[in-house]
Amino acid sequence: MALTKCKACDKEISKNAKKCPHCGEPTPKKTSSLTWIVAILFVLFFVSMCSQESKSPAQRAQEDCTNGILSYYYAEVFIKKNLKSPTSAIFPSYSDVQHTYLGECKHTFSGTVNAQNAFGAMIANTFNVTIRYDKSTQTYYLEHISLE
Ligand SMILES: [Zn+2]
Repeated sequence: MALTKCKACDKEISKNAKKCPHCGEPTPKKTSSLTWIVAILFVLFFVSMCSQESKSPAQRAQEDCTNGILSYYYAEVFIKKNLKSPTSAIFPSYSDVQHTYLGECKHTFSGTVNAQNAFGAMIANTFNVTIRYDKSTQTYYLEHISLE
């Protein structure tokens, strides 16, 4: 049996003893391996949480820069501004439009949007729009739009 010395009376006692049999002094608790495992998991959990949170604004901006779905959302906003009846617009889903990434955060989308014309009739408009994401201002800018 492993022995250790009591801190209070300096007599040899069992490491497993909860308190000294000579003087009654409680022995320092040994941290169980289970406690260690839980503690380590807890730390790992927090580290992983933090690493997800700690994406720098530059990293996030870079992701937005190349994000086609997000860019298409903003492209729709620009197209709506050019429609006679924006509320009537029915856009194709991202998978149904032609998306070209031009590099440097520029995206071109082309497809067909259905919307009411000035007379209230639903017509198909062919759009071709190029938008640019500015990383420093985190804003989308319209570079080019054609709507026929
Ligand atoms: Zn003792």
